[in-house]
Amino acid sequence: MAASRPNSFVAVPDVFVSVLSFLLVIIIVAALPLPHALASPNGLSEGANLLHSEILKDEAVARLIDLGKVSDTEEYLERTFQSPASVRAGNLIRLWMEDAGLLTWADQMGNVHGRHEGLNPSEKALLIGSHLDTVIDAGKFDGALGIISAVSALKVLKTRGMLGKLTRPVEVIAFSDEEGVRFQSTFLGSAAIAGVLPVSTLHVHDKSGVTVQGALRKNSIEITEQNLVQLKYDPDSVFGYIEVHIEQGPVLETVGLPLGLVKGIAGQTRLRVTVKGSQGHAGTVPMKMRQDPMAAAAEMIVFMESLCKQPQDYLSYDSQCTTSAVQSLAGSLVCTVGEISTWPSASNVIPGQVTFTVDVRAMDDLGREAIIYEMSNRMYHICDKRSVLCVIERKHDANGVACDPELSSKLKSAAYTALKRLSGENPGEVPVLMSGAGHDAMAMSHLTKVAMLFVRCRGGVSHSPAEHVSDDDVWASGMAVLSFLETLL
Ligand SMILES: [Zn+2]
Repeated sequence: MAASRPNSFVAVPDVFVSVLSFLLVIIIVAALPLPHALASPNGLSEGANLLHSEILKDEAVARLIDLGKVSDTEEYLERTFQSPASVRAGNLIRLWMEDAGLLTWADQMGNVHGRHEGLNPSEKALLIGSHLDTVIDAGKFDGALGIISAVSALKVLKTRGMLGKLTRPVEVIAFSDEEGVRFQSTFLGSAAIAGVLPVSTLHVHDKSGVTVQGALRKNSIEITEQNLVQLKYDPDSVFGYIEVHIEQGPVLETVGLPLGLVKGIAGQTRLRVTVKGSQGHAGTVPMKMRQDPMAAAAEMIVFMESLCKQPQDYLSYDSQCTTSAVQSLAGSLVCTVGEISTWPSASNVIPGQVTFTVDVRAMDDLGREAIIYEMSNRMYHICDKRSVLCVIERKHDANGVACDPELSSKLKSAAYTALKRLSGENPGEVPVLMSGAGHDAMAMSHLTKVAMLFVRCRGGVSHSPAEHVSDDDVWASGMAVLSFLETLL
């Protein structure tokens, strides 16, 4: 902002005074701390005002802390779809949206919306969002940062009297479910808005037998299959969707920058593998006579690891699986067994059944299919060899999403502007990353063009109470959204 500071001394007619003033300015400028320090508590209030640290940093951080306390348990952070804490969080976000000058409402899937029509209510709206639900024992930035950055940026426009000057409507959406903890079905909120949530989802039930519809009804929200279909936004009414999210990985920390542009989101498949063997006494059944599903599961999991570490060693090359697809896979493929259960799970019993999940992610959708095919074949082969019965079910599939080049380019410029405003220096090229994690932008890509920005998080840690974004990076994230919104003025 230093460049826009008025240099009124030029207008002083007396040459002598001008020279003295000039020297004085040189001395003052030389004595000033670096521009990024302008907004520090001890810095110049003018700089702080220009950089909106009170709203984009101090208040945003305080709100992240407050929202992080809205939990269904005292011991850790947990907010699942339509839980009591989830409803309280929605109400709190709604208050903040109203404080930012937005008109608010909650829809029948529990999404919380805040909108300003700007100058031209009939123009296509920019949607900005992220999710208000959390995993179990969560951190307070995942999801919340995207919502709070957007609300804070709009609040800055409101305080500057600029909200009504937006050339198109802007709507912030706090989605009710992205993590899918309660119903094992991700994107309940954003998929409903995008019109890609199957109506049968309303009848899916949680571990205690409550359906999605029942969970909403418990909070006095009546939803029918017909209502659900009507939640879909008209694509012609939407300009695009942007989302700010913590990176959940270590790349930005490694390159030493707070913000990065997301080029695309990896596609994902979740499998559930059930292995059935012959249950028996641990002490009496000879090793040669066992049909042990635990040992079979172990062999399958170790095979999965080898396959996903070196896919090129296992895939055959044909028209569907080209060299470039295999190279892309080798760079982005990740496979995880995150959940395993055995029955009856006792130390002196050979289990009768073992069930485990497999999560496969890759940028290339065809490559991911090839991996699933190879993995399933080899797993069935292991089961045959060990005389156990295997069932592999596909529980979830999402194709990879490429972010929109034009919208991404605008968001990248906004990130660059934000970093420059905060540091006062040329921040260099904003890094471009792939996202291995799914985000609401995936669901929203079925409705409109999407772009995403990642924010550095300490150690790349997420889904953990250790998840942390520095106050200055919270500031950078709000400033990036503000810089983007300013292009709509
Ligand atoms: Zn998230």
